[in-house]
Amino acid sequence: MIRPLVVGNWKMHKTVREAVDFVGRLKARLKEKGETTVAVAPPFTALYPVAEALKGSGIFLAAQNVCDREEGAYTGEVSACMLIDAGCEFVIVGHSERRAFFGEGNDLINRKIKAAAKYGLKPIFCVGETLYERESSETSAVVGRQLKEGLKDISASDAARIVIAYEPVWAIGTGKTATPGQAADVHVFIRETVEKMFGKDASQDVSVIYGGSVNPANIDALMAEQEINGVLVGGASLDVESFTRIAGD
Ligand code: PEP
Repeated sequence: MIRPLVVGNWKMHKTVREAVDFVGRLKARLKEKGETTVAVAPPFTALYPVAEALKGSGIFLAAQNVCDREEGAYTGEVSACMLIDAGCEFVIVGHSERRAFFGEGNDLINRKIKAAAKYGLKPIFCVGETLYERESSETSAVVGRQLKEGLKDISASDAARIVIAYEPVWAIGTGKTATPGQAADVHVFIRETVEKMFGKDASQDVSVIYGGSVNPANIDALMAEQEINGVLVGGASLDVESFTRIAGD
């Protein structure tokens, strides 16, 4: 049984003070939770203070990015080891905004996943097609390639610890959500691809979550799909009330 996972991706929002205040209120609201693993992904500047604020809460910390290198003269980068040191459990890798705005391709994403796995940081590996690709019936081809190239040469045990986030690009920040059925179809395809690459055990352990305009009004229908193991939430994770509702309140 895969535990449901809800991750809030704050993107480039919230100062240190705002982030710490947010998790203080979130902790109070999520006190009774047990079923769902909850994580927040603040910007780098707020990671450590948020880790301190989350101590003892059972809420996990995620980073939004990681460098593919371990250490050295890479100005502006942050390594997997540093993220672990700051208190992170997860790191988002391959988000469509990084692919689109920062030119990240499947090879770099593959190296980032390996760098994260080496330090025990769990990657939340984002895959998904554009609207044009969906309308051209290329969803499986695109997502299949992202999985094959992104997870190339990864061990089955590391693969089993990866969270795969299906995030159709056309649904991110647009208010358009994939229907639960559309998402579930792609989730089945993702699990089948993982099985072909890494075997049945890994495919049964891997968590496949959905992201794309998730909000309090659509969360129940999405989570009612057996194939959807959780959600990655952008805009609606910035507000304590809506994020609490999504995380199971
Ligand atoms: C995201 O950025 O991962 C995301 C899913 O954003 P939103 O929920 O705003 O569509």
